[in-house]
Amino acid sequence: GTPPLYLGIDFGTSGARYALIDEHGAIHSEGKRAYCAPVGDAAGWASSWRAALFQLLADVPPAHRPSVSSISIDGTSATALIVDSETGELLGGPFLYNEGFPDALPAVESVAPANHTVCSPTSTLCKLVSWWAASGGAAAGAAVLMHQSDWLLWLLHGRPGGVSDYNSALKVGYDPELGAYPGWLTSQPYSRMLPAAVRPPGAPVAALRDDVRSQYGFSEDCVVCAGTTDSIAAFLAARRSEPGTAVTSLGSTLAIKLVSRVHVADARFGVYSHRLDDVWLVGGASNTGGAVLRQLFTDDQLAALSEHIDPAVPSPLDYYPLPKKGERFPVSDPDMMPRLQPRPGSDAEYLHGILESIARIEAKGYSLLKELGATAVEEVFTAGGGAQNDRWTAIRERVLGVASGRPSRLRRPMELHC
Ligand code: ADP
Repeated sequence: GTPPLYLGIDFGTSGARYALIDEHGAIHSEGKRAYCAPVGDAAGWASSWRAALFQLLADVPPAHRPSVSSISIDGTSATALIVDSETGELLGGPFLYNEGFPDALPAVESVAPANHTVCSPTSTLCKLVSWWAASGGAAAGAAVLMHQSDWLLWLLHGRPGGVSDYNSALKVGYDPELGAYPGWLTSQPYSRMLPAAVRPPGAPVAALRDDVRSQYGFSEDCVVCAGTTDSIAAFLAARRSEPGTAVTSLGSTLAIKLVSRVHVADARFGVYSHRLDDVWLVGGASNTGGAVLRQLFTDDQLAALSEHIDPAVPSPLDYYPLPKKGERFPVSDPDMMPRLQPRPGSDAEYLHGILESIARIEAKGYSLLKELGATAVEEVFTAGGGAQNDRWTAIRERVLGVASGRPSRLRRPMELHC
């Protein structure tokens, strides 16, 4: 018969998209749908995601549907909702990835180890604890915390009890080294709302619900698989997971991710490790990045001024570009002030100094990960708006090469994000 196809669906911040691939990674069909959430209505997000999910299933060409052997979904990290897993009723949320619940922070900090990933107001655990406190601890037995992808997958398989994956569950406190929730978490009364099963991303969970299967014409063998977070999905899509491989995202902020043999975490710097089969994906994010550039120059100006930069010549200007006060990685200092002085007469020289300073921060980020015990960086791929700037790439090659003690190969941007 026809070769099996695999359906992957990505739920990003503004829309959802699908790709139908074969075992070689070749795309047989793809499409996207925007969300239509009413502003200010939390429950509206849930119905928009649900609508986008079923629109995308309907967008898959009918001729391909019987060949789909498995379906999985990624969602934005730390986006979650509280659902009655028997009736499907939405009990709380959705709480969006960037929504903070500082009210829950003292309770979380009183039980979690110091500097743990959950000790951030946007962590999934703060969301759960905040909801739990507001509900007076009276949650019904079937109330389950589901991450965005858990819930969307649950709409497809309907298995009760809550099923998650170890990437999505990291920010609720799941310990991927232990392969379990830690004791400090399971001893809390709200822990019975945690997803009961936590699987590796892509592990089979259950068959597609009969009604969904027959409505869309999928096969009886079609399996719904555990999901993951959007950033992990982006890394998996690049199909490179050798230790030493890294991706720098030069978007509004500077984020680095590095494949490491060793698990490292240090919440002082916001550094944590996601599991990727038998290796770790270590990440850190600085507040420097494109947002500062955008405060100073338009994208056209950036492109034009960059032409006047000689990347082989180091800039003597030493800045710490930040859009506002405060830095976490690779320097942990909530009071750090932006440093963008002195400003030379030439805008090209100014930009050169800024790009070079950001490159030094990037290099310092990779050195910090190494100091914390991660595998040394060997090859850096670049994503985001800054990746198109060849002069910057050349500056970064020079600066990173020095910092890592060996030449780094930088590549053109890979298709990593929407
Ligand atoms: P995000 O998705 O994080 O908002 P993008 O990946 O779309 O960001 O990248 C946008 C950023 O890229 C902007 O902050 C902008 O200043 C920066 N940018 C755009 N063009 C260039 C360029 N030629 N050189 C350096 N940075 C650039």
